[in-house]
Amino acid sequence: MGIRKKFDRLGAASTYGRRVAFALLAAFGVASCTRASTEQADSAGWPVIGGAYGETFYSPLDQITEANIERLGLAWYADLDTDRGQEANPIVVDGVIYVSTAWSKVYAYDAKTGEQVWRFDPEVPGEKGFDACCDVANRGVAAAGGKVFVGALDGRLIALDAKTGAVVWTAQTFDPKTPYTITGAPRIAKDKVIIGNGGAEYGVRGYVTAYDVETGEKAWRFYTVPGDPAAGPDGEASDAVMKEKAAPSWFGEWYKYGGGGTVWDAIVYDKDFDQILIGVGNGSPWNYRIRSDGKGDNLFLSSIVALDADSGAYKWHYQETPAESWDFTATQPIILADIAIDGEPRKVAMQAPKNGFFYVIDRSNGELATLPQPFVSVNWARGIDPKTGRPIVNEEAKWSAGNDENFVARPGAYGAHSWHPMAYSPDTGLVYIPTQDHMFGYQDEPGFRYHLGDWNLGNASPTNVGPASVEERQQAIDTVSASITAFDPVEQRTVWRVQHDGIGYGGILATGGNLIFQGEPNGMFSAYKASDGKKLWSFDGQSGAIAAAASYEIDGEQYVAVLAGFGGVVGIFSPYVKDPYVRPNGRLLVFKLDGTASLPHYEPPVVPFNPPAEEAPSSQVSLGAGLYAGHCMRCHGASAWSAGVIPDLRRSAILSSPEAWEQVVLHGGLSAQGMVGFGDKLSQEDAEAIRLYVGEQARAAEAVLAHTAE
Ligand code: CA
Repeated sequence: MGIRKKFDRLGAASTYGRRVAFALLAAFGVASCTRASTEQADSAGWPVIGGAYGETFYSPLDQITEANIERLGLAWYADLDTDRGQEANPIVVDGVIYVSTAWSKVYAYDAKTGEQVWRFDPEVPGEKGFDACCDVANRGVAAAGGKVFVGALDGRLIALDAKTGAVVWTAQTFDPKTPYTITGAPRIAKDKVIIGNGGAEYGVRGYVTAYDVETGEKAWRFYTVPGDPAAGPDGEASDAVMKEKAAPSWFGEWYKYGGGGTVWDAIVYDKDFDQILIGVGNGSPWNYRIRSDGKGDNLFLSSIVALDADSGAYKWHYQETPAESWDFTATQPIILADIAIDGEPRKVAMQAPKNGFFYVIDRSNGELATLPQPFVSVNWARGIDPKTGRPIVNEEAKWSAGNDENFVARPGAYGAHSWHPMAYSPDTGLVYIPTQDHMFGYQDEPGFRYHLGDWNLGNASPTNVGPASVEERQQAIDTVSASITAFDPVEQRTVWRVQHDGIGYGGILATGGNLIFQGEPNGMFSAYKASDGKKLWSFDGQSGAIAAAASYEIDGEQYVAVLAGFGGVVGIFSPYVKDPYVRPNGRLLVFKLDGTASLPHYEPPVVPFNPPAEEAPSSQVSLGAGLYAGHCMRCHGASAWSAGVIPDLRRSAILSSPEAWEQVVLHGGLSAQGMVGFGDKLSQEDAEAIRLYVGEQARAAEAVLAHTAE
């Protein structure tokens, strides 16, 4: 422990000394970032996603402590214009806080007063929301060279003037008509800005692209999986390694489905080795038999890959889940740190991916620095083979091997840990992981057919349709849980946990005041002791904070800033959300000691269920139930039960009108809000059956209400 501390500490104990060290580190990480000059506010602390080089989500600031946290109050807040999920970590540069929101909008505020400096709306077409598997979220911006960069949902990488918000340049990173999206934050590596994309549930081929910070000119692109062999090389930085390593690990006709491997979140610049680490996503389709004839490792799915920062050329990789089949992405946030292992300082990358094992990887060569152990309960693999570094996969977990068994995995597709940032505190030596303990079903789909623009998973498991009744819903919630897992990366063991009900909890910030902060789906934003997890403080933010907080200092005062705004995949799919309700629009909440601001009172609106007058024939209801599960559930919630993020159809004003229903469902009457018309996928009879099914769900919900009131 002593040695680890020596190497991890930023070299100074006082706040001022730490701040200087912090600023120096930040300057290395953000080469041309404009640091504070004398006429600017005296500010420090969070110039990049994750706070500093290494993206540790740790702030050394220690004015707010376990001893004075009861004095923590709201300094200011800013209302946003959407109630969709907010996932961004704010950044602070020269006294201005920059944050992106749902629909890829960017706001700049005076970080001390909350006064809005500018706002930017890229005006993403509402229909593009249909291509976003997991909400129209955006996870943040990057700053360099007097510019702020945001990736828009429709594939634009946009450079904005940091002072005015004016567009400096725009690069189109994919054809917006294809089902790619951007929800991740761009990252800066010296003179380049790097961005990836999402879309592997729909069927796309993943890649990252580097652009010149000043001009927006494309510098290089790295594909994560091979393309159609008949098409020849791409003419990109990935060509050599695709030929040598990746292509020989693929079989069948994966390229017809894209293959997957999207880099939708983790990208981190590693200055120690002048390399960029990317976290690669799941296979497309998930089904390994359909994707690759059930053969090969399918590089670089579910891998951390190191690329040369200048050329984008491959350096090394570590594949966490060979033959990925469970949506086990390796896109979860990657933390860079120097830690002592067996008394030796090691430069490592740490990741807690969806598959449930904790990885500590030597950044010099991509090898395991410690043997990965599970940080949640795991049933798909028995462990990691210390000789090969490969998971020892249980036979029953190989669901697409041509049998018709339904395999219920722990963890499942939501991930033991997803995009919600984890934090690493050099003070405690612990990593704080926002974990999800849950199940997910997988079953082969023999008659699989690819449909462009739809989800294409090859998974026919009946497990995931969702609970049908109030009792089933409670049972479902009882089978899942979330926690803050305090994990020792060297000893590979859980030191303590804070256990939560249901899932849908936020990312984590750790600070030098022996504190960690995390939001909850019910709107509470809470602080815990970093050393033992004791809950110390809570604030009712009215909408759940799923994003991670930032901490910074201006004029001698420490601030904690977090976006509130519940949503994301858990909020939309909804069966594990304990108390669904309609929430206010998202907000940026900023706290300091003795802050006296307060939020206006909020009373969730009561919108009655709206079942049609006449009962529907059961044959049509059951047809509608199947169509609902196939087309509507992934946005409007399992069993037509919304968590409030996307409208609850049981309460829809048009539920009693077949004509109005058809106008929206088939002809896109609400496409500007993201509800595209399904006229090319559903017939008039289909739409009517769905309406009748939702109507009966509304009738059932109303009956439960009446029963409860008796
Ligand atoms: Ca996925």
